[in-house]
Amino acid sequence: MITLFPCLSDNYGFLLHDPITGLTAAIDTPDADEILRQCESLGYTLTHVFNTHHHFDHVDGNAMLKENHGVTIIGPEADKARIPNIDICVSGGEVFTFGSFDIHVLHTPGHTKGHCAYYIPALRSVFVGDTVFALGCGRMFEGTAEQMFASIGKIAALPDETQIYCAHEYTLANGAFAISVDQNNVDLGIYLENAKKLRAQNMPTVPTTVLKEKRANPFMRAASASEFARLRSAKDNF
Ligand code: ZN
Ligand code: FE
Repeated sequence: MITLFPCLSDNYGFLLHDPITGLTAAIDTPDADEILRQCESLGYTLTHVFNTHHHFDHVDGNAMLKENHGVTIIGPEADKARIPNIDICVSGGEVFTFGSFDIHVLHTPGHTKGHCAYYIPALRSVFVGDTVFALGCGRMFEGTAEQMFASIGKIAALPDETQIYCAHEYTLANGAFAISVDQNNVDLGIYLENAKKLRAQNMPTVPTTVLKEKRANPFMRAASASEFARLRSAKDNF
């Protein structure tokens, strides 16, 4: 079971709970207090953290959750020096067991060197951190356009119905750019109208799906790394 909750200014926190074994993981730790509040209200005991990358808004709660709750922290090898209290390093390609779920680790560099996504086939869900956003993608802080394009391609290659849990609510800002470069895309127009309605009611636009992004997200629709690079720099200056 997956629980999504807003925290900080525009982050999402997520809990992954296995009702059979009682294990509960937080995907990233933007706000330890809010994570613990959510666990308490659901009757969960937090046991694990899966970090996607080392940025502050994704690891800030690690130390507190380790010290006060003894959680096991899993995160990317190449970001490990910058991930507080990391216990187990992953670098992509691993499949590990979490209660009754198999978790597939995908290396998705570009935003950071080590960035990883966590794909759970049994739940048709992937936690992508800051790799892909609804109608957008992460900034390339530590990687090349080729790397980021390949990372987005790994998400695009998952089954169409896969739910994409991205770590920020950026959809309307992303949509304004997307429509400016793809004005005649009917699917994008419908997507954006729906997102505006959700946000007007303060509802999340996350999760999205692989199919929705393949139809509407200009970064996922880019045909080559060079087209992707051109879009990414246009967005940076939008
Ligand atoms: Zn980030
Ligand atoms: Fe972030």
